[in-house]
Amino acid sequence: MIRRLEMHLTYGCVQGCVFCSESSRLARFRGAHLRAAEVARVLAVKRRQGCDHLTLTGGEPTLHPGLPAVLAAARRLGFKTYVTSNGARLAEAGYARLVLPLIDELCLSVHGDDAELHDSLTRCSGSFGRLRRALAAARCRRKLFLLTNTVVTRRNWARLEAVLRFILARPGVRHCLLSQVAPEGRGAQDYGRQAVPFSWWRRKLPALARLAERRGAVLRVFGLPLCALGKRQDCSNDLYFSPRVTVERGGAGLRETVSLRPTRRRVQPPLCLRCALRQDCGGVFRRHLAEFGTAGLRPMRP
Ligand code: SF4
Repeated sequence: MIRRLEMHLTYGCVQGCVFCSESSRLARFRGAHLRAAEVARVLAVKRRQGCDHLTLTGGEPTLHPGLPAVLAAARRLGFKTYVTSNGARLAEAGYARLVLPLIDELCLSVHGDDAELHDSLTRCSGSFGRLRRALAAARCRRKLFLLTNTVVTRRNWARLEAVLRFILARPGVRHCLLSQVAPEGRGAQDYGRQAVPFSWWRRKLPALARLAERRGAVLRVFGLPLCALGKRQDCSNDLYFSPRVTVERGGAGLRETVSLRPTRRRVQPPLCLRCALRQDCGGVFRRHLAEFGTAGLRPMRP
């Protein structure tokens, strides 16, 4: 049974991140937020089908005028609520007071450790300041499970340890996700210039994982094959993936996509046939292979 429901609630954002994987869909459906009746119908149907965990994403879900009502309705139906956000509106004290009590798990996007780096990646002046205020508001809510997501590019790679230290210095952060650039939207436009090669990840990941663990947090990575993680394969998000159904705008109505494995846009090239990890590994982004070839892959001996 699929228990996770992911809903793309909005098609708008105040930022313009250089790696935004949703940029094409945001342009196509600009402003066409999911309507209250559409959301209510999906929640009721999916709850009956067994879903009990709701992820609200976008675009930026806090821009949806009905977000508090959606969260309250989901809670009443028995969903655990998870929201991904760049902090846009959670920086406003009144809005944070209204919405945070309705969220069980909040994931805030942190791409730099200062305004210069973060704002240059989000292409939005003031975004780091808003993010800091959102982080501060979230830490006041003890019951909230607070996560962060950092999209890792060649522009923040050299500062990644500092970014992680910044995150871990915020009280309440329990889970840090580092994401490879996803080759969709703007992330696809110049993937080769933005994405970090696997050999770099393999060298740096153990120290980053230790840093998080020393502070009592969990470090996970998204979008990388297991062999790119060296001895820290336990950090792969692939190993903890739960099947999900994604609901988003598509054409005239809504579109549903079921994901049983973390293999979206990823493949295992022929050399993986001799790898002992291939059942658990989500593979490599097809685009990564096109840009970098198989040089960074290390099939594991049985
Ligand atoms: S060699 Fe292939 S199957 Fe093995 S860990 Fe790497 S990408 Fe995954």
